Amino acid sequence: KTLAKAIVYSEFGNPRDVLRTATYPVPKCSDSELSVRFLASPINPSDINQIQGVYPSRPPFTYEVSPSKPSAVAGNEGLLEITDVGEKLKKYFSPGQWAVMASTNLGTWRTRTNLTSDQLIPLDKTAFPSIAEAATLTVNPCTAYCLLQKIVPMNRGDWFIQDGANSMVGLAAIQLGKHFGYNSINIIRNRPDVDQLKEQLHSMGATVVLTDEEFMNRAWMKENVGKWTQGGKVKLGFDCVSGRVASEMAKYMTDGATMATYGAMSRQPLPVPVSLLIFKNIHFHGFWVTKWKSEHPQEYEKLVLEIQELIRTGVLRSANSKLIDLHETADGKTFYDTFLNAIEQHGKSIIQF
Ligand code: NDP
Repeated sequence: KTLAKAIVYSEFGNPRDVLRTATYPVPKCSDSELSVRFLASPINPSDINQIQGVYPSRPPFTYEVSPSKPSAVAGNEGLLEITDVGEKLKKYFSPGQWAVMASTNLGTWRTRTNLTSDQLIPLDKTAFPSIAEAATLTVNPCTAYCLLQKIVPMNRGDWFIQDGANSMVGLAAIQLGKHFGYNSINIIRNRPDVDQLKEQLHSMGATVVLTDEEFMNRAWMKENVGKWTQGGKVKLGFDCVSGRVASEMAKYMTDGATMATYGAMSRQPLPVPVSLLIFKNIHFHGFWVTKWKSEHPQEYEKLVLEIQELIRTGVLRSANSKLIDLHETADGKTFYDTFLNAIEQHGKSIIQF
């Protein structure tokens, strides 16, 4: 038996109050299982919401890793390496192969476990320039791809507008949007080094990048938006943030356009101006990739492989994430501290085991 470690919780609440480290034995895998070692697991905003108990999808609390108290292993996304293959699966898998999770709620903030073959999707590790791209493939790029391709039909040359454009979803939307031939207006929050961030987004394929302060200046926007779009139609909006910026975005969209809200980072409601509903028939839409994956498991698996190819060909790159080393033999306190510090930091962290 190998000893593994996981970050677990037995009740919902503030991560610092409810998370703890569990150490548990992982037996040799059965004939129909695979033993896996996690290589890297990101910390996504939804993982934290899940621990807080404010996320609609909840993992089951079981005795799997903690015999004293039913608990759930935190985390939903991760890159793993197959270390041992059960007899019945030897035709299909081999040790050393990389894979990602086929569904959510399996607990990825851990070092090792055994899984059945339907719980993972194998990858081709030669496609990835770094561990970061593979470890963050299943949530943010999949979301950006679905937002761009599955909400409304878009033609090359059409425009989309998005807030939270420097989020991981936003960065993937910029890169994929460029690949599909779409133009984009991208809104970010102002900051001291904003020109550097604007430049980065342009270099990834953004057409226009604005701070929220520039964007909320209606007179300035009126003067400029037509110059940028040159009659092109803003058919789609992606809202990561909600609040006033999001409802302002809808004002620059074409008649009948659709705004898809996928995040609520500002924690503000979305005020919808009635005139936009009546006179412009703007559609307000939501998108939740977790639901889409559970309803379309085969399409999801195909999408993972398609995104793998977009990474291989250099269309998609991971940016602005921080890899944090945590050796799997680290003690329980180091484990807890590393995760907690990463959770409380601004920006995207990926724990690399
Ligand atoms: P990241 O951590 O990569 O990015 C977070 C973004 O939110 C940054 O652009 C950040 O901007 C911005 N932000 C943070 N706090 C605020 C605030 N108070 N007001 C305005 N903007 C803020 O996150 P992800 O890309 O992983 O996720 C972004 C959002 O999308 C999350 O809400 C997440 O849950 C959601 N999501 C939803 C999915 C779905 O299917 N519906 C799937 C994937 C993600 P700054 O740099 O200025 O702080």
